[in-house]
Amino acid sequence: MRLQVLGGFGGESIDCRMTCLLINDTIALDAGSLSQALPIERQAEVHSILLSHSHMDHTNSLPFFIENVYGKRDRGIGIHASEATIYAIRKYLFNNATWPDFTRLPNHLVPVMRFDEFESEKPLTIDGVTFTPIAVDHLVPTHGFLIEQDGAAILWSSDTGPTRRLWEVANRTPNLKALCIETSFDNALQPIADVSLHLTPQTLQAELRKLQRRVPILVHHLKPPCVERIKEEVKKLRNPDIDFLEQGKEYDF
Ligand SMILES: [Zn+2]
Ligand SMILES: [Zn+2]
Repeated sequence: MRLQVLGGFGGESIDCRMTCLLINDTIALDAGSLSQALPIERQAEVHSILLSHSHMDHTNSLPFFIENVYGKRDRGIGIHASEATIYAIRKYLFNNATWPDFTRLPNHLVPVMRFDEFESEKPLTIDGVTFTPIAVDHLVPTHGFLIEQDGAAILWSSDTGPTRRLWEVANRTPNLKALCIETSFDNALQPIADVSLHLTPQTLQAELRKLQRRVPILVHHLKPPCVERIKEEVKKLRNPDIDFLEQGKEYDF
């Protein structure tokens, strides 16, 4: 499986794009920067998008992506998300006030995008890649994903505070090649991390005690103003398994 990091951050600045991973060129995991990071002809190859939750840093590019690929595909774009995320996206984004309801355009029978609801722990397979949504602990209903293809698995946390199920899945998946875990704020912002259900380097360290095996850890979703401090504090953990998920990089698993 080939994973390209289009956006690896929990916010936006000149250097930081919002959360979006491209899998095998055709499937996007979240849509924080799909339209900003790919040429339009490559955006038109993307036919499925999985959304972890409704927050803007994960859905921001969806309206512009849909407009960019409008009329370029025979089949509509499949947007896979939980019931709560679909409700929020319909109500607050594609509501004809913020942006047109593209589930009814060009007509409701053959729309450019369609929603497909997934459930926690029920795997869905797209083009030979299996995604199992794992509920994590964040301000709104949110899922990380176990992503599997050809005997390789990676686990991606999306946004979460201290959580349990994700680590259980990590411990019971023998072919796990990497675990991508969020760390949004530096330690000085612990109170903000706690109320917004995100991790800091110190709560990351506590979370990693739930992992009963060695696996490469890739830290993602840093908030742009915290990047330098988070990197220093993570380095001080002196854990040789920890690295950062690098924006722009392609990973092969
Ligand atoms: Zn986020
Ligand atoms: Zn979030």
